[in-house]
Amino acid sequence: MQLTNRSKVVSNKEQSFAEKIYLPAIISGMATTFSHLFKKRPTIMYPEVKKEYAPVYRGQHVLKRDENGAERCTSCGMCAVACPAEAITMESGERKKGEEHLYREEKYAKKYEINMLRCIFCGLCEEACPKEAIFLTDKIVDAEFERDTFIYGKDKLVEKIDKRIDVTKRQTPEVLEFKKRVGLRHNELNKTIEKKH
Ligand code: SF4
Ligand code: SF4
Repeated sequence: MQLTNRSKVVSNKEQSFAEKIYLPAIISGMATTFSHLFKKRPTIMYPEVKKEYAPVYRGQHVLKRDENGAERCTSCGMCAVACPAEAITMESGERKKGEEHLYREEKYAKKYEINMLRCIFCGLCEEACPKEAIFLTDKIVDAEFERDTFIYGKDKLVEKIDKRIDVTKRQTPEVLEFKKRVGLRHNELNKTIEKKH
């Protein structure tokens, strides 16, 4: 029974003189090779020349601070639950009086770690975060020699106060819409706290 119509009948015909001397086949092969000399090279001279990443490239994570410099993460654990690689672990802490400038909300991540060897850079942690605290950036995770050094803690993840990271490209229209919703304006929370004190 014939399963497909892709079968080909093999020909046993005698080779012609041209086929026997292989010259036409060699010339046609060389013509193909030479035609590539005049085509634009797809390779680049890395590291002198670097390729531009797509705006949605997903690299190393950043834990964002708010406009006043306080850490946005409230250690809710949503990112860890969403992570398919189980790469995120954290420990919560309770904000003390006088620490309002450090942590935006009463609960914060005392310890926050991402195992970069487990991470598959899917971006689900970013999508799950209700506080816009975690984003993926275009920074490539550094190469290391020891496996332990791939566990990134807050020292590597939280953005530096004097070196803020622009994540506007990663804020989708849905996220921006969420920000506008009255009652969920967590971006304004710190200002409200400041007014009360
Ligand atoms: S990018 Fe994906 S795999 Fe990596 S930590 Fe976030 S959710 Fe986990
Ligand atoms: S990064 Fe976002 S989702 Fe993860 S614990 Fe912090 S606030 Fe929650």
